[in-house]
Amino acid sequence: MLLNSVILWQLCSFDIFHYFLFFFYGSSAVFIIILYVPSESCTCNQVFLFFSLFLHTCTHPALSIMEVNGTADILSSAYLAAEYLDAALPENPFQPSMKHAWGYMLDNYTKFQIATWGSLIVHEFIYFLFCLPGFLFQFMPFMQKYKIQQVGLVVKIFFSVSKMTYLLTDLLCVCVCVCVCVQDKPETWEKQWTCFKMLLFNHFCIQLPLICGTYYFTEFFNIPYDWDSIPRWPYVLAQCFGCAVVEDTWHYFLHRLLHHRRIYKYIHKVHHEFTAPFGMQAEYAHPAETLILGAGFFIGIMLFCNHVFFLWAWVSFRLLETIDVHSGYDIPLNPLHLIPFYGGTRFHDFHHMNFVGNYSSTFTWWDKLLKTDNQYNKYMQKQGDKKEQ
Ligand SMILES: [Zn+2]
Ligand SMILES: [Zn+2]
Repeated sequence: MLLNSVILWQLCSFDIFHYFLFFFYGSSAVFIIILYVPSESCTCNQVFLFFSLFLHTCTHPALSIMEVNGTADILSSAYLAAEYLDAALPENPFQPSMKHAWGYMLDNYTKFQIATWGSLIVHEFIYFLFCLPGFLFQFMPFMQKYKIQQVGLVVKIFFSVSKMTYLLTDLLCVCVCVCVCVQDKPETWEKQWTCFKMLLFNHFCIQLPLICGTYYFTEFFNIPYDWDSIPRWPYVLAQCFGCAVVEDTWHYFLHRLLHHRRIYKYIHKVHHEFTAPFGMQAEYAHPAETLILGAGFFIGIMLFCNHVFFLWAWVSFRLLETIDVHSGYDIPLNPLHLIPFYGGTRFHDFHHMNFVGNYSSTFTWWDKLLKTDNQYNKYMQKQGDKKEQ
């Protein structure tokens, strides 16, 4: 009853922010119910009660303030602050050349070519460009101190070698283990080649057909391509953040569902083939997973896209984020950690090492709220205690 009244109350509001909140919490409620209702410790009523209260407390204060101050004053103030900051910054020195390049693209290619081949090029270029640092780090001995799963992986390789070489002596196994330690290159060429082949398959056989839909999407929603209507950078950043919030929510619940013991082995097991992730592995997944978890990426676009430039900005941000969390290296002064509640490499690396917990893609709030980061917190506590000793 309470949940119904909250939903009705939200449906009565008409601006996009209300719809966003409604969609965001509404979809979360559905997945929470899917995940928890079968559990014996939590009855259906408790789930409804929990979620309606959560929905109410999260949305009511913000919306009440908006109603008192007129329409969406919170957002207006945020945009004003960004505008003020923008005015204080010096002119972008690359602006004229970017304008020229954009104009050249519009003059020489059709909208279909820009939407399809342009998006494909942006995706491939950005993906492999962002993977490059992590790929090169494996050849740099001084970077190995930032490798998260260094010791753990050596032990795993040691055991797998032990199993394969029943007839060899322990001494040989120890030699292999020492070699791995010295080389310190847990990402074997075989693994990286397997990963690369699967990536190409996913990129060209699964993602390319989806990318082909970009043109029809932009035509249907009248998404502009011209230079003058490219949104200013504060708006692009704010929209990317909004998309990340939506995608993270989708990813958390669907990812958690894919870990369900009855379906894990059919789809998500592929992504977990590597317990110590490396950058290129970010999109190494079963084709069905690419479609299921990838849907979260498109929901953000449906809600926030107002220019084809924004589409490419969001693709770039999402790739940067997913490659960073799969890089396997926790590099100091990583600017992505400036994003509030950003999970980061250690957070997702633990998911690959432990299989349980830390299901979010970008932020930590869903894991904190639903207590799926307990094992991670205990592990980090232990690591901290070890360092202190
Ligand atoms: Zn997983
Ligand atoms: Zn992963």
